[in-house]
Parts: sequence; C-alpha cells; structure tokens
Amino acid sequence: MSKVEIDKQSGCCFGVEKAIKKAEEELQKGGTLYCLGDIVHNNIEVERLTRMGLVTVNHEQFKELKNVRVLLRAHGEPPSTYEIAKQNNIELIDASCPVVLGLQKRIKEKYITRANANAQIVIFGKKGHAEVNGLLGQTNESAIVIENKEEIESLDFSHDISLFSQTTKPLNDFQEICELIKSRMKDGANFKFYDTICRQVSNRVPNMHKFARKHDLIIFIAGEKSSNGKVLFAECEKHNPNSHLIHHPDQLNPKWVKDNITIGICGATSTPMWQMEAVAQKILKLIP
Ligand code: SF4
Repeated sequence: MSKVEIDKQSGCCFGVEKAIKKAEEELQKGGTLYCLGDIVHNNIEVERLTRMGLVTVNHEQFKELKNVRVLLRAHGEPPSTYEIAKQNNIELIDASCPVVLGLQKRIKEKYITRANANAQIVIFGKKGHAEVNGLLGQTNESAIVIENKEEIESLDFSHDISLFSQTTKPLNDFQEICELIKSRMKDGANFKFYDTICRQVSNRVPNMHKFARKHDLIIFIAGEKSSNGKVLFAECEKHNPNSHLIHHPDQLNPKWVKDNITIGICGATSTPMWQMEAVAQKILKLIP
C-alpha cells in the first residue's frame, strides 16, 4: 500500500500568509477591493480570492483608478506607486512583506549615502520581477540588475560596487557572484555585499533535500510565475529525479502513482497548505 506525506515545512511563508489574510479581512468589509498585480504567484489562490471579490489590476490600470481601496501584495512597490495613490486619493492596504520593506530601506540608504555618482548599486535578481522593480525604485531606477554570474561583465570594477540580492534567490549563486566580483575589483575601488536572501526560502532547502530523498515520488506544487517555486523544485530534483512540478491538481498524472511507494507532497512559499491537501486527497483516490 502506498503512503502519502505532506511536507510540514512547505506552505506559505509568513509574508504571503499575511497578505492573503489582509485581503480576506478587507474583502469581508464589503465594497470593491483592488489588488495591484497577482496577490501571490499561484493562479488557484488568485482565482479563489477573485471569487471572493478581489479585482486584480496591473500598473497601467492602477494609474486610472481614483477614490478606491488597493491592496499592495508582499513583493513591495516602488515609491512611484505611493505617489500615484496620493494623487488619485487611493487608500492603500499595504501588505508588503516586512522583510522586503527592510531591504528597500537598506538599498535606499545606500543610494542616498553612496560615495559618488560612479558607485554602482547592483541587485542580483530577476529583471522585471515585482520585488526587483520595487527595489529599483529606491535608487531612482539607477541600480544595475544582474540575473546570473555572466552578467557581472556589465559592471565597472574600477568603481565601488554594493551588491544586494532579491530575497528569493539561491544563496550559493549569490555567494559565487560575490567571490567573482571580489576577484575582479581594481585597486582603490570598494566592494561591499549584503546577503539579503530571505531565510524563509533558503532555510527550506536542507529540509527539502531530506524530504525528497525520503520518498519514491515527489509532487511539487507551485504557480507558473513563482521564482522560489523554481528554485525549491530544482533542489528537490537534485535529490530525487522522480520529482514532478505541477501548477494545478489536474496536472497530476495517474501513471506516476504506483503501488507500494511513498509519495511526498511539497510546494513553494506561495503554495497554500490547502492546495497540498487537495492534491494528497486526489492521490489517495488513485492509489491502486
Ligand atoms: S519569501 Fe521572505 S521576503 Fe518573500 S514574502 Fe516570504 S517572508 Fe517575505
């Protein structure tokens, strides 16, 4: 008889949980509640909140709104969003994650106190990602975003460099980039790096390895746009090649579920526990 286990350390991180709770509370008050961008990189959860009345708008649509309530999700926003809200009499329900707000503050301080205009503020992150856009806004869009170690070639090693990271990037990639930049710095230029990776993601990695090794089959649930979902799934795959990433319970392939195996279910920091439970129920019905 096959067995199913849900990873107890999976499920939404506190930042995402807080944003979802805030949305639910505000929706209960009645009236229209807008959300700037998908509240979480998980379509099923977005659909659930949409059914409760949440209206998702993009940044272009946001500019057209007036006299309404808008929720800001955990990823945080650049200062321009707060300015638009002020001009258009928009009440902001700010559910930005405190960890992201802390990082925004640090980058802003670095931008204000940088030694000269040639000093570079570098963000290791995904170009166009909402959190990265919020960080860029703290530097008047002047920071340089690098997505991988190859892109350090765009930096000027003869001038100061301060390196930060998007909260959900893999720690070992960040450390490797730090070492590479350090080795390239020219005399007289300073290099400072700040490990700003959120431990809600990186602390899950060792557990994910253990969990993946423990089971014959791993079902990993994450939204298509979830950055940390991609990172954590890759960690699962390293330790269990029989790992499958699904975005929806319907993507579960019945052929994966065999007799006398152990099946582990886990997910990203944007995957609510109820979705893992729903997949577990589906698997239990498929067990031969
Ligand atoms: S992963 Fe960390 S920084 Fe990002 S929302 Fe969750 S708690 Fe906040």
